[in-house]
Amino acid sequence: MRRGTRLVIASHNEGKVREIADLLAPFGVEAVSAGKLGLPEPEETGDSFVENARLKAAAAARDSRLPALADDSGLEVKALGGAPGIHSARWGGAARDFGLAMERVHRELAAAHAKDSTANFTCALALASPDGKSEVFEGKVFGTLTWPPRGARGFGYDPIFVPEGYKQTFGEMEPSLKDSISHRARAFEKLMLAAYDHD
Ligand code: IMP
Repeated sequence: MRRGTRLVIASHNEGKVREIADLLAPFGVEAVSAGKLGLPEPEETGDSFVENARLKAAAAARDSRLPALADDSGLEVKALGGAPGIHSARWGGAARDFGLAMERVHRELAAAHAKDSTANFTCALALASPDGKSEVFEGKVFGTLTWPPRGARGFGYDPIFVPEGYKQTFGEMEPSLKDSISHRARAFEKLMLAAYDHD
C-alpha cells in the first residue's frame, strides 16, 4: 500500500466511502469508489461481517483488476441478541430509510422491556488483490443507545449511538472525532499496521 496506489472502495454507501477516503487520505492512497467505476454490487450471502467484507472486496478486485477495500459493518444491540447485526442495512428497507430502522430498534427494545441499552458497532475491513488473496481486520466501538435520535452528521444509526466516554451521539459529533474512535477507524488501524508490516 504505497503512496500513489489506486485502491477501489468496494461500497455503494456514500457515508462509508467518504469515511474510508478520509481515513486513507494521509497515506497518499488514491481511493476510487466501486459506484464510480460502475462495478456491480455483489449479494451479501455470508453470515458474518468478515465473510461479507471478504466477498465484496474479492469481487471488486477481480472486476476492476485493482486492489480493493470493502467494509461490512453494522449495529449490534445486546438486548436484541446482536440484531440488527449483519442485517443493519436491510432494516432501512429498499429505500435505506434509517429513520425507520432506528424506530424499529427503539420499538423492539420497548417490546422486549429491555433495561439494557448497550450496543456496539462492528466493522470488518477486507483488503483483496486481483489475484484473489485477501486479509480481513475487525474493529468495534461500544456505547449505549439513546432516544430520540440526535444530530444530522454521519449516517445510518449514528443519531442513536452514544460512544462510551462521550455525551454526544455519533450524529452530533465532529466527523474527525468519530473518525478517531469508530469501529471503522479501529479496523483501519489494524489494516494499516499489517499493510506497512509487509513492506
Ligand atoms: P453494509 O453495507 O451491509 O455493511 O451495511 C452496513 C449498515 O450498517 C449501514 O447501512 C448502516 O446502517 C450501518 N452502519 C455501519 N457503520 C455505521 C456507522 O458508522 N454509523 C452508523 N451506521 C452504520
